[in-house]
Amino acid sequence: MIDPRENPDHSSPREIRVGIGTDRHRLEEGRSLILCGVEIPSPHGPVAHSDGDVILHAVCDALLGASACADIGTLFPDTDPRWKDVESSRILAEVLTTVAERGWKPKNVDVVVHLERPRLTEYRDQIRHQLGELLGISIDSVGLKAKTGEGVGPVGESLVIDSMAVVQLVSKEAR
Ligand code: MG
Repeated sequence: MIDPRENPDHSSPREIRVGIGTDRHRLEEGRSLILCGVEIPSPHGPVAHSDGDVILHAVCDALLGASACADIGTLFPDTDPRWKDVESSRILAEVLTTVAERGWKPKNVDVVVHLERPRLTEYRDQIRHQLGELLGISIDSVGLKAKTGEGVGPVGESLVIDSMAVVQLVSKEAR
């Protein structure tokens, strides 16, 4: 028999949730490309009312999905002047507050970005670090893959940038 004193989780099991989120923005020449607050030199960037940070938007929807809340477009509509041109990190902070009020906190996140160019390899760890800081988790709990569109489709033709995120939430208290 396992002694609960040697296995604290055994005596206080935490519930786990998983959520998924995606985002897409059209790309236009001369716009800034910002991912998790990191500005990346690029000939083009997303067309958006906010800063168009596709990773943070996908992560927000994954967090909201895992905690069964309405999606980012419903909670932060771009028709509401409060959310126009706002940094996505502020929206994420609001989302994390909502998630925390429901008794959850992020455990890990895994992200995919689909972008033909520029290549994101040299910014990968900087983006992971920033995302970890924003979510209050270690960089070791932040996955990030950058994929191209192999020259075909809307990603391959540099018409859009896409992102997908999966997050795991853990309950703050035993349930
Ligand atoms: Mg978006």
